[in-house]
Amino acid sequence: AKRHQPGTVFTYTQDLEFLVRGEQQIEVELRSLNTDEDLDVRVQPVSDSTSGVILGGEVLVRWTSARLGPIPPQRFITIAERSSVIHRITLTVVKRALGILAQLPDHLSLAVNISASDLNSPDTIERVLSAVRDSGIDPSRLWFEVTETAVMHDVDAAIEALRMLRTAGMKIALDDFGTGYSSLSNLHRIPLDRVKIDQSFATDLQDNYSNSIALAVVNLCRTLGLSCVAEGVETPEQAAIFQSMGCEILQGYYISEPLPVSRFMEMLAEHDCT
Ligand code: C2E
Ligand code: CA
Ligand code: CA
Ligand code: CA
Repeated sequence: AKRHQPGTVFTYTQDLEFLVRGEQQIEVELRSLNTDEDLDVRVQPVSDSTSGVILGGEVLVRWTSARLGPIPPQRFITIAERSSVIHRITLTVVKRALGILAQLPDHLSLAVNISASDLNSPDTIERVLSAVRDSGIDPSRLWFEVTETAVMHDVDAAIEALRMLRTAGMKIALDDFGTGYSSLSNLHRIPLDRVKIDQSFATDLQDNYSNSIALAVVNLCRTLGLSCVAEGVETPEQAAIFQSMGCEILQGYYISEPLPVSRFMEMLAEHDCT
């Protein structure tokens, strides 16, 4: 009987219209995106789970549209992926990462996120490779994070692109592991150096079942010779559990939220990393 209440359906339609309109507005604003001027980045530190030493960070894009205000990356990246705008965004973030790396000591590394459509664009991969070459930065200090969903989109092209990046010396991490198309068999098909355990595992750690799965993933990484990052670590308890499991690297609000570049540099100085 409830579904015949007139107001419910109407509200739903309005919300849907609102969402679709929002999406179209973002798409329009993205067309005139000046990646150099309009995009900003934050760096979220990652640390060694045993010593607490900062090892580097993940570079995360930020966009405040002049007309629409700040838009979360999850929202605009999905829309950007429908056109070639995503390639310009990726290239901008890669160049920012290289610029930051040039100011950091050699033992620190940074990670950037790369989309499925980037992996399917030989021209984009070529531009990434030449940006890294031109920078003179040791390529092993630059990590690319890909999701399994991105790789599965066009497996052969993605694996070929990842192989090119890796042959040039860069490192590959499998992002959000344990969600989406997650399949253990992918772990040895994809050229990989590291696995990032999705933050939903940190959230569910109190539950014995999730604990066993997280531990199995950590052990599998060790067997395959892959390093392992726990994402979304928010509490000292979660940090202690991942550390005791043998997960070497932690990322999350417990270490730090994503920081403006200058704040990230200050944090490194405070931790004697510079
Ligand atoms: P991601 O790659 O999984 O990045 C981690 C996200 O989790 C970030 O959100 C980060 O701020 C958030 N986070 C970090 N620690 C914690 C924690 O302890 N608790 C909780 N609840 N969240 C935490 P952000 O920056 O909003 O980015 C969201 C997603 O947008 C990213 O997820 C990534 O998929 C995408 N993204 C961000 N920057 C880029 C980029 O430059 N290129 C591409 N292609 N995608 C990007
Ligand atoms: Ca990521
Ligand atoms: Ca992630
Ligand atoms: Ca995520």
